[in-house]
Amino acid sequence: MLPPHTAAFPVNGAPRGLSILGATGSIGTQTLDIVRLFPDRLRVRALTGHSNAELLARQALEFLPDCVVIGKATEARGLREALAGTGIRVLEGPAGLCEAAALPEVDIVMAGVVGVAGLEPVLAAIRAGKTIALANKETLVVAGALVKASLAQHGSTLLPVDSEHSAIFQCLVGEPARAVESLVLTASGGPFRTRALETFAEITRDEALRHPNWSMGAKVTIDSATMMNKGLEVIEAHWLFDVQAEQIEVLIHPQSIIHSMVTFTDGSTKAQLGVPDMKVPIQYALSYPDRWPAPHPRIDWSRLKGLDFEPPDADKFPCLRLAYEALAFGGTAPAVLNAANEQAVALFLKDHIRFVDIPRVVEEALGKLSRTVQPSYETLVEADAEARRLVMEHGGGVPD
Ligand code: NAD
Ligand code: MG
Repeated sequence: MLPPHTAAFPVNGAPRGLSILGATGSIGTQTLDIVRLFPDRLRVRALTGHSNAELLARQALEFLPDCVVIGKATEARGLREALAGTGIRVLEGPAGLCEAAALPEVDIVMAGVVGVAGLEPVLAAIRAGKTIALANKETLVVAGALVKASLAQHGSTLLPVDSEHSAIFQCLVGEPARAVESLVLTASGGPFRTRALETFAEITRDEALRHPNWSMGAKVTIDSATMMNKGLEVIEAHWLFDVQAEQIEVLIHPQSIIHSMVTFTDGSTKAQLGVPDMKVPIQYALSYPDRWPAPHPRIDWSRLKGLDFEPPDADKFPCLRLAYEALAFGGTAPAVLNAANEQAVALFLKDHIRFVDIPRVVEEALGKLSRTVQPSYETLVEADAEARRLVMEHGGGVPD
């Protein structure tokens, strides 16, 4: 599925046209940091955000894209006023997001929306033949088979941004696909790695939002605390690298220095290392197949005391097992896993359910809902909605 390690698109000296979906988020703002470093090589053509119109307006005034997209229609008026006289088009909602992903001036799309909301624009970018820098792992979890088929049909390219998958991708440079034996996805273990299981029922929202090594958006931070994040990444790796679940090992590595590893059929293992900083994998996806000189922090080997590893604790982190089970079943199961998890995390962030309820309701959704094999896009959307409805019965209110 990944491109051969050659140029993803012609390098003719012109800056690469960039559309940043989710520009106001953690991935999006760090992508703009990379653009600030390389204004001659990257040109922002589109920026999108869901509700933070003020930040989106500031970004637009700095980078002067052709268009901006705001998710919440109620924010559009203020955004139009802020950008009056600039000539920047203001679009709205999911249709605007898809348009921003497929603009003719765009070469590469940074898929930095969180959750399944990122799926449709990625499919639109694929259909338009774009190169996609994929941070939005939920896209592959929910619709890996459809994405893969569409990439082949339209000759588009997907480049991983997730640090583990970028690490594996970097390890694979120059290697034949048939020589890959297995992958090791490293995980920090999150904030609760050493916490006693008996106290998990009391975990608060603020505790779960405090990640030891990475600063990220709220949803992925909670996913890291439950280790659902690693489960989603196992499914992501399956689709990106054409490997089966049995070939993917998850290993706790608390320092987050080794970002992941590949073992080859001759017994050799390659790893990619670095200070935990998302700017490095973000930049690699934007510069690929080149590497651009940048001032990101380097590992200080003299201060590195050691690299530790341990297997994940299956009792503390049942989400990991659930993700492997969903991958083994296939069909709509990963979409149900993802939707139930998104809804459960949203409820947890509002203090409507407890931390330990997250795996419980996801497991219940996986057990209760029918699992269609080889689902269409519409079937996946329906499975997503059903799973959300089921989870809402636990937390009250209406689905987001
Ligand atoms: P975030 O919450 O910081 O930002 C999400 C962005 O998506 C924001 O711009 C927001 O406005 C937009 N958005 C949210 N809901 C939307 C909707 N319904 N429609 C349109 N836009 C919407 O999230 P993040 O941490 O930047 O993560 C983005 C994606 O990247 C996630 O899939 C995450 O798993 C993945 N990822 C993030 C990191 C990281 O360090 N933050 C690392 C690896 C992978
Ligand atoms: Mg990751």
